[in-house]
Amino acid sequence: MGEVHWRELYREVVDPGLCTGCAACVMACPRDVLGYTHDYYPVQIGEGMGVDECAIGDRGCDICTRACPRFRDWESEFDQELFGREREPDEVYGIARSLLLTRATDKGVERAGQDGGLVSMLLIQGLEEGWIDGALTSRIVEDRGPFDATPTVVTDREGVLATAGSRYTYSANPLAMEEAEQLGLKQLALVGMSCQASINASVQARGVNKYKRKIALTIGLLCSKSFTYEGQQKVLANHGIDIADVVKANIKGKFMVWTRDGDYHEIPLKEFHPYTRPGCQLCPDFAAEHADISTGGIGAEDNRTLAIVRTQRGEEWMKALIDGGYVDATPAENDPVAMDLLVKLSRTSRKRWPTDQLEGTAARPGLLPVVS
Ligand SMILES: Cc1cc2nc3c(=O)[nH]c(=O)nc-3n(C[C@H](O)[C@H](O)[C@H](O)COP(=O)(O)OP(=O)(O)OC[C@H]3O[C@@H](n4cnc5c(N)ncnc54)[C@H](O)[C@@H]3O)c2cc1C
Repeated sequence: MGEVHWRELYREVVDPGLCTGCAACVMACPRDVLGYTHDYYPVQIGEGMGVDECAIGDRGCDICTRACPRFRDWESEFDQELFGREREPDEVYGIARSLLLTRATDKGVERAGQDGGLVSMLLIQGLEEGWIDGALTSRIVEDRGPFDATPTVVTDREGVLATAGSRYTYSANPLAMEEAEQLGLKQLALVGMSCQASINASVQARGVNKYKRKIALTIGLLCSKSFTYEGQQKVLANHGIDIADVVKANIKGKFMVWTRDGDYHEIPLKEFHPYTRPGCQLCPDFAAEHADISTGGIGAEDNRTLAIVRTQRGEEWMKALIDGGYVDATPAENDPVAMDLLVKLSRTSRKRWPTDQLEGTAARPGLLPVVS
């Protein structure tokens, strides 16, 4: 990419608000001069450095920039790398080999999962078959109740099940790579929000070879946005619900909450919008468009994970699970509710990307044109 490093990354992505906080740059930084703030942004921590300065970058290191899933022409470069072509204008949710509605056949896994337990089933099978020796996921922060999430590493079935389900705060799972390295793990699955799933393509397209080799499968989570912990706490309190009493939450057009006493509550989603995490505001990717397999909870029936299978290795994993009887799958095209919502939500998110050239930055459309 030429002479580009932290300075360009800071000025073109972080400063203008395009940074999602995915932490790819922090994960990839070979000299550990990038830190991560409590409000989910990368930050220069080298001594005596300005926010956009990096002494290592000045000497030619550009790894942070290469790992970033939002730098310059990211979408076309990543489409080309993963699929050998750019998306067509009508491929609003990205390029797919197949779309399936799935459910883990193991009842324990299905119950632990947020929707059909597909993500957990993939991880368990990957670990038990030896396709991976660990996975970067997100765990609940014990003293903050089931809403706060933090990156973690799991290496067995118990670990996978303990970290199953969705938390609607942000968790930059690539940060768990450090722990995985300390544990000596070599082949990893990365589970992450849409923005994090594009790391699957950035490390391949831009030759961040260490992580290209380590990440054996990327499972993306469909995502419109995440919310701050404090915001969710406040909205729940407005409805008389103590966040510490919540045992499960789900979002399906509305915010659904199950509490310890067995009660179920529905809260209009719009009450949470003022508490959208800032890093999500300009994110155009609902459908985790560069994951090997993208997963979501949309469809006519509950307890199904919608799976968008995108790459050859994603297809191989999925086929192995279906052929082995670990997952039930039907074509998602049979469910117009799922398909319509997928298109609608993907289109809505794409409108967030700023179309005007940002002042003081290089010309870079970033996003490919699709049918609006
Ligand atoms: C913040 C957020 C927003 C989402 N928004 C939508 C949406 O708008 N529409 C939609 O269809 N689907 C959405 N999803 C995806 C959906 O909730 C399920 O994760 C997906 O359907 C997979 O279900 P499953 O039962 O197969 O996964 P499970 O087997 O339950 O596995 C889920 C995996 O996600 C990880 N995880 C949980 N929370 C987080 C987090 N905050 N950050 C990173 N990793 C996490 C877990 O550790 C686990 O590995 C969202 C998920 C999250 C976390």
